[in-house]
Amino acid sequence: MIGLSTLVHRHLKASRYNYSTRLASGDLLLFNGATRAVAAFRGTDADVAAGLLQRCVASPPASRRATLIARYLAKNGFLLRCDADEIEALRVRCRTGSADAGDVHLILLPTLDCNARCCYCYEDRRATAMSRDVIERVSRWGELALPGRRALTLSWFGGEPLLELATVVELSGFFRDLCRALGLGFRNMMTTNGYLLTQEVAGELGDVGVSHFNITIDGCRDWHDRFRPHEKGGGTYDRAVEGACSVLSHIPEAHVTIRVNYTDESLDAAGGFLFDLPANARSRVSVYFREVFGQQGHRVSARVKTTREAMLYRAVVECGVAVDLESMLLGPKATHCYADRKAAMVVSPTGDVFKCALGKFSPRDRLGRIDGNGRVQWDRVAIEKWNAPDPFDDPECLLCVHLPLCMGGCRARRASGREKGGCTQPFEHIDMLLEQIFEREDSSA
Ligand code: SF4
Ligand code: SF4
Repeated sequence: MIGLSTLVHRHLKASRYNYSTRLASGDLLLFNGATRAVAAFRGTDADVAAGLLQRCVASPPASRRATLIARYLAKNGFLLRCDADEIEALRVRCRTGSADAGDVHLILLPTLDCNARCCYCYEDRRATAMSRDVIERVSRWGELALPGRRALTLSWFGGEPLLELATVVELSGFFRDLCRALGLGFRNMMTTNGYLLTQEVAGELGDVGVSHFNITIDGCRDWHDRFRPHEKGGGTYDRAVEGACSVLSHIPEAHVTIRVNYTDESLDAAGGFLFDLPANARSRVSVYFREVFGQQGHRVSARVKTTREAMLYRAVVECGVAVDLESMLLGPKATHCYADRKAAMVVSPTGDVFKCALGKFSPRDRLGRIDGNGRVQWDRVAIEKWNAPDPFDDPECLLCVHLPLCMGGCRARRASGREKGGCTQPFEHIDMLLEQIFEREDSSA
């Protein structure tokens, strides 16, 4: 914290990572991407704060009130000493977060097969299931790698992981017990299409500690069934919604994050599932909307899309469901995604090791392999190539006001050498999020 006397004698500058928005009432809402501080100023205070942030504060503020506001802004990172190097602080945060070995993230793909035929799927479906040999190698890896760590996050991904329920249950139970014995924190999550999430399956998953479910529901039944048909034909909407309801009713601590993919045509119906969620469990559901990647011939402008998305988010909040943007955009972040972290890895059904869970998992792309002793044998050239890109060498990122929220974009794209990080986070919604946070805190004050 910068003291009052220091403030008076030292030049201050506005943080390069401030976001501000003025409400129709004249209230000023502030958010700082680097410190995650949120602040609101009303009446004349709003003008004073806006004035302080617009210029370098080279002389003592004009009044005691202005001094107090300047002190508050400095305490929360909106104002900084003129010699503060915010980019260097982020670089250190990124390097520390990337190297942190305490929180291990293991992403397991028990199969690359899937029972849905989503029209936008980028994966190569393959009927490969994790063999007994690979299950044992993964278990041995856990026994070697986890002692001395702080926590394990286990994520199930695929393909559709519930096609291999027995593997999910066996390895979840194994890692839950191992973490308990070693005194590590344990978090178990799953990305599933929800089709096989019956009440019985939800009970089994709850018993082995799966508590966070990512389920895609693409708006109303009609659009979802068009986008996500079952492999044998017919829709999957009802089963996906029932799956979400099953985990919410059978796992008391369960949280469901619903991803809604939309196209220009389906955008207006993207909130169509909201009232199919049980009212008494909506507080344990959060939602975010994403445009289908690579859709052809855009008919709706980006500006209209942002406005319509904002309306959808309002509808979500009005029905008692949380907006996941808040944790995605405003939550603490040291790296762009788990794939930047040394202590994260993806294991395919064949025991090949990757860093990113969104790929084709071809053996020629692997970065390493878990051997029979449970050790990861990294392909030195491949992993060095993966680790090489540094967003802090990218002039565009260094100039970008979103850098602390994004931390440099997608490493897979950078490492492929095809393109830059290319950030896909919906930063245009930050104003709306600020308004929501303000309304929520105002009504609870
Ligand atoms: S990838 Fe894009 S949004 Fe992210 S920090 Fe770099 S320039 Fe900014
Ligand atoms: S695609 Fe890029 S941003 Fe997404 S998980 Fe992989 S590395 Fe991370």
